[in-house]
Amino acid sequence: MASALAEATFPPSRRADLLRRLAAGEHLTDACRALGLSVHRVYRFRRYDGAWGEQLDAALTAGRDPELAHGTEAAYRHAGCRCPECRAVHDACRRTA
Ligand SMILES: [Zn+2]
Repeated sequence: MASALAEATFPPSRRADLLRRLAAGEHLTDACRALGLSVHRVYRFRRYDGAWGEQLDAALTAGRDPELAHGTEAAYRHAGCRCPECRAVHDACRRTA
């Protein structure tokens, strides 16, 4: 039931739209706002669709700012980068904090 609801609130057309925006370099929070989605919902959708996590990470990596030092808390916090490397560092910092 939960997955059907998730599918309905975050349909494939919207997922494709989000991936396009991210790959074009739009920030995750901005892209979500433009599409009327919450970042939380976008992340949570990985639970219902395993491939989504990979698609999301690929788009975030493709659209990330090449000028930033990725895999650093600074890129995550100050530049708002949400690529897999920056998220991993941020999550690790939070866990040990
Ligand atoms: Zn990054």
